[in-house]
Amino acid sequence: MSWIEDESFTGDQPFGPQTLPYGVINEGVAVRVGDHALPLRPIAASFSDRLAELVTANSLDPLLAAGRPRWSELRARLTELVTATAAPRNAGLVPLRDTTNRLPFTVADYVDFYSSRHHAENVGKIFRPDGAPLLPNWTHLPVGYHGRAGTVVVSGTEVVRPKGQRKGGDGPVFGPSTRLDIEAEVGFVCGGPVTSQIPTSAAAEHVFGVVLVNDWSARDLQAWEYQPLGPFLSKSFATSVSAWITPLEALAVARIPSPAPEHALSPYLVQDQSWGLDLSMRVSWNGTVVATPWFGHMSWTFAQQVAHMTVNGATLRPGDFFASGTVSGPEKRHRGSFLELTWSGREPVVLDDGAERSFLEDGDMVVITATAPGEYGSVVGVGEVRGTVVAAD
Ligand code: CA
Repeated sequence: MSWIEDESFTGDQPFGPQTLPYGVINEGVAVRVGDHALPLRPIAASFSDRLAELVTANSLDPLLAAGRPRWSELRARLTELVTATAAPRNAGLVPLRDTTNRLPFTVADYVDFYSSRHHAENVGKIFRPDGAPLLPNWTHLPVGYHGRAGTVVVSGTEVVRPKGQRKGGDGPVFGPSTRLDIEAEVGFVCGGPVTSQIPTSAAAEHVFGVVLVNDWSARDLQAWEYQPLGPFLSKSFATSVSAWITPLEALAVARIPSPAPEHALSPYLVQDQSWGLDLSMRVSWNGTVVATPWFGHMSWTFAQQVAHMTVNGATLRPGDFFASGTVSGPEKRHRGSFLELTWSGREPVVLDDGAERSFLEDGDMVVITATAPGEYGSVVGVGEVRGTVVAAD
């Protein structure tokens, strides 16, 4: 019996001792145990000097920079501490309802990929009905763009409806977006030494952990601005990420093969290991579950994305952050954006309270959660990421 008295801190619950995600609360760096946070600064004496230095920092930045050997060492020590029968000296648990989470790391560069074939084809059909749904480069490389690191916000942050230009009948119209949407994605937090040309076989050495992402998207702004250089203001106003980062190590059992490529890939994109992840996601809109995307449908893995981002000589550094792209699948229930789910507003969804929706209205709340299989039949939690839309300024 662990000293932690919390019914949610068991292997059949997503935040039991098999998960141990990291976050930053007012009390400093903390680890999630069930429905509590365990701040690490008060128990620094329970760690070696080199680990104590990392857990007493004001953010996860020093831990991210420390690299894989320290990540494993810290996780092993934390597992001992939280499963022991006696509490470490000075340990104090904070109920999650009483915590204020901060963005747990300084986002360096932010990249957003586009790795779901189903999402790419759906968006292609909606935005370019007269063209081929998939552009010819898509099956050869993980398509992505550089996003805006400074507007990545922690789960719970209110999202102000963006304003901008959209296409009108007689030139552009300026005003608050009328087609505000979500994109349910999985994000990867990078760390370890600054390196370039990382092979797929070494990508996991540079990925500290996994979060959920809501890449809020203004479809009316996007449709007008995105050609020829891709999305810009339609995405850069806010990107929400989980407050708690699930360590990649906790997802070892969730690894699965990704869908086979339809033709030979450039050698740097070939994988000698399986880096697909069996993550089952749930998207709720004002409390109604409207979609259940499965991350196993994604065509490109994080290992291929790391290899692709660095193959040209660009470096990866601690705090770099990249997202998978909207997670969609072959069935309607798998669609990770409302653009797809409502087919651009033509098939509105009806929420449990009877309200009909095509795109987000002011006051709407979206919550994305995910679970994966863990060791010995346990369940590993990733996320959640939560956000509420407020009216344009
Ligand atoms: Ca996206």
